[in-house]
Amino acid sequence: MAKIKMTTPLVEMDGDEMTRILWQLIKDELLSPFVELNTEYYDLGLEHRNETDDQVTKDAAYATEKYKVAVKCATITPNAARVEEYNLKEMWKSPNGTIRAILDGTVFRAPIQVKGITPCVRNWEKPITIARHAYGDVYKASEMKIPGAGKVELVYTAEDGSQESVLVHEFDGPGVVQGMHNLSGSIESFARSCFTYALDTKQSLWFATKDTISKKYDHTFKDIFQEIFDAEYKEKFDAAGIEYFYTLIDDAVARVMKSKGGFIWACKNYDGDVMSDMLSSAFGSLAMMTSVLVSPQGYYEYEAAHGTVQRHYYKHLKGEETSTNPVATIFAWTGALRKRGELDGNAELMDFAGKLEKATIDTIESGTMTKDLALITELKDVNTLNTQDFIKAIRTTLEGIM
Ligand code: NAP
Ligand code: MG
Repeated sequence: MAKIKMTTPLVEMDGDEMTRILWQLIKDELLSPFVELNTEYYDLGLEHRNETDDQVTKDAAYATEKYKVAVKCATITPNAARVEEYNLKEMWKSPNGTIRAILDGTVFRAPIQVKGITPCVRNWEKPITIARHAYGDVYKASEMKIPGAGKVELVYTAEDGSQESVLVHEFDGPGVVQGMHNLSGSIESFARSCFTYALDTKQSLWFATKDTISKKYDHTFKDIFQEIFDAEYKEKFDAAGIEYFYTLIDDAVARVMKSKGGFIWACKNYDGDVMSDMLSSAFGSLAMMTSVLVSPQGYYEYEAAHGTVQRHYYKHLKGEETSTNPVATIFAWTGALRKRGELDGNAELMDFAGKLEKATIDTIESGTMTKDLALITELKDVNTLNTQDFIKAIRTTLEGIM
């Protein structure tokens, strides 16, 4: 069978540790035999980031602006231990942070559902995608301990020197105070990324804040979403048969629990942080969670939601057998290939992405899986495989489908 051709390159960002091993296996076993892979390769492995003074990460982000679609392997975010382990020149910043700062996007996380691994919430029939705003609020707040009685005010000094102030509290004893901010531009980008992704995946979009209590701060989020929706997206949503709806965060939480799933839940920074951990564990496993960064201009970067699986890598280095789940990394590739196919009008490539996803899910549903899933499945007579053999099992299923 002739290999599927790609007309435009995909930006490929290689990474670290066990996921770097998975990366190569996935390419060798599941992609290259079927597709004439056309990628522009960037090695974001920590050694190469260090050699290039992290320039490679920025170059990979600029390439994503050029080609619009990227697929990224998990990467180490250096800490003090890594600086020593890899003899780093500097404690380089998180690659995801650097890429996000350049592309200005929102991260969408969605679980991959398979029969035999049931979400803790029985009525969740379809995945729930979380969109977390990744700028500001409590993550960029200034705080102060108030030692005793006194007055706290917020003061805004405009460029011309004029001032406006508001009383926070008249303390008559000790306490604490916090000042946080957000930027209209960042909220606008967040809104556009959410609307773009909802149209893309044909799912309705929910957004919730506490605007009844926070009449200026949260209300601004609500207003910006509504203004952008009405001006730019309403007709497109109607045509796609999806809806945008806003509600209070406590009402949203209650509705999410009662829902069947199948929608995107846009969250402010803190809500997204908390709710994404709740959703991923309720759906089963971090190794079954995909992640895509969508920029307001419509650039896409796909990856797995988990890290480099360091513990498994050290076992691998010692020559011990590992059973690392490649599913989220496979779905990062299929997400990117499908988007590439969509942008290029390459139906064959889109079709291949669907078949590889089906082969992956079918393999698990037939009872063949890695150890992390074997521990949580309700299926009987499970065939638990090591990393390499599980990928080979998917290859066999895929060959059957192709
Ligand atoms: P991790 O890679 O997410 O793994 C934590 C644990 O979760 C593993 O030890 C394993 O549990 C389980 N796990 C995660 N993915 C799995 C998979 N595919 N298959 C089977 N089990 C899986 O987090 P970490 O080991 O704490 O972090 C390692 C590095 O990843 C860090 O340097 C961090 O900076 C980086 N990181 C990168 C990204 C990213 O690039 N997007 C995200 C998060 C973390 P068991 O050990 O119990 O089997
Ligand atoms: Mg968190």
